[in-house]
Amino acid sequence: MTSDLRGQVAIVTGSTSGIGLGLAEALAGAGATVVLNGLGDPAAIESTRADMAVRHGVEVRYHPADMTDPAQIADLVASTVAAFGRLDILVNNAGIQHVSPVEDFPLDAWDRIIAINLSSVFHATRAAVPVMKAAGRGRIVSIASAHALVASPFKSAYVASKHGVAGFTKAVALEVATSGITINAICPGYVKTPLVEAQITDQATARGISEEAVMRDVILAAQPTKQFVTVEQLAGLALYLCSDAGASVNGAILPVDGGWTAA
Ligand code: NAD
Repeated sequence: MTSDLRGQVAIVTGSTSGIGLGLAEALAGAGATVVLNGLGDPAAIESTRADMAVRHGVEVRYHPADMTDPAQIADLVASTVAAFGRLDILVNNAGIQHVSPVEDFPLDAWDRIIAINLSSVFHATRAAVPVMKAAGRGRIVSIASAHALVASPFKSAYVASKHGVAGFTKAVALEVATSGITINAICPGYVKTPLVEAQITDQATARGISEEAVMRDVILAAQPTKQFVTVEQLAGLALYLCSDAGASVNGAILPVDGGWTAA
C-alpha cells in the first residue's frame, strides 16, 4: 500500500529526534508539508529541516513550541493553519521518561512527564479538532507506548501518562466519529532511540545491574521477538492510519511491540 499525502499538512510534535523524526520523514516522503517541532541545537534543527525539504521536494517548517506550555502548543497549531490554510494530520509524539522508585520520584519530573506526554496531547488535539471538523477530515495519531497497556516498575509517571493517552484517545474518538476525523494511539515496544539509550543507563542505576544486563534481562526480555521495534515499522502504521484506507480505524490502541502486551 502506498500513501499519497500530497497537498496535506502535518504537524509532528517532538520530531527533532528518534521516532518523531522518522515519522516526519515518512510523512514528507509521502508528499505532505511537514511542521517539525522539538528541542535541540538550532543549527542542527535547521539543517534537518532544510535537508528533509530538499530530499522529499516538500515544504518543511519548524516551530519551537515547548510541549509544557499550552499557549505555545496552541500557537503551533494556529500558526500552521495561518501559514497553510489547513491541518490534515497531527502526530502527538513528544515524550520524556524518568525512572525512579515512586517514593523518591522527583516532583518536577512527575509534572514534566504528565505535561509533555499527556497534557500536550490534549492541548494540541483541542486546537486541531475545530480545524479538522471544518474541513470534514482529519487524522490524529498519538505515539503512546506498550506502557499505555501494561506497567513496569520505576516508571509510575510514564505509565500513568501513557495510560492517560489511551483513555483520551478513546474519549475523543467517540466525539469526532461523525466528523471525518480519526484519532488513534500507536503503542510501540522498545525502539532504540536516544530516549531508550538514556533509560539503559538509568535502569542500570535503579536496579544496581550492568547496562548489558538491562539490555538482555530488562529491555529485550519484555519483547518476545527479542528485536527492537524499528522507526520504519511505526511509520508504516502511521501512514496507513493517515490514508483513506484507515478511515474506519478510530479510537484504537494499537500495539507494535513484538508481542510484549500479548503476554
Ligand atoms: P527521543 O528522546 O528520541 O525524542 C523525543 C522528542 O521529543 C525529541 O524531539 C525532543 O526534542 C522532544 N521533546 C522533549 N521534550 C519536549 C518539550 N518540552 N517540548 C517539545 N518537544 C520536546 O524519544 P523517542 O524514543 O523518539 O520517543 C518519542 C515518543 O515515543 C515518546 O512519546 C515516547 O514516550 C514514545 N515511545 C518511545 C519508545 C522507545 O522505545 N523509544 C517506546 C514507546 C513509546
